[in-house]
Amino acid sequence: MSQTTRITCTQCGLNRIGLAEEQPCPGCSTTARNIHVTVTESMAATDSLDATLQYPQHRAWWEQWQTAETYLHRLREAYQPDAIGGDARRLANECL
Ligand SMILES: [Zn+2]
Repeated sequence: MSQTTRITCTQCGLNRIGLAEEQPCPGCSTTARNIHVTVTESMAATDSLDATLQYPQHRAWWEQWQTAETYLHRLREAYQPDAIGGDARRLANECL
């Protein structure tokens, strides 16, 4: 499994990698940021999850990422050949 992370300014899209959380964006002075995390896993077929997470101040970005990973895990289980009664479409809608 490989994982890549990008951090960009919510307002102007500038790359914020290397800037401290409280540092304002050099382009537009906002501190709001988006965390982009891509996980790619090679299996018989290729699974991939690409998510852009808003960054509310009251909740750490990695908590949202853990939620996304939980949904990916549940979707992966629902698509296993021996899955019992899994409704993958309903689960996918729940993830959105
Ligand atoms: Zn900016």
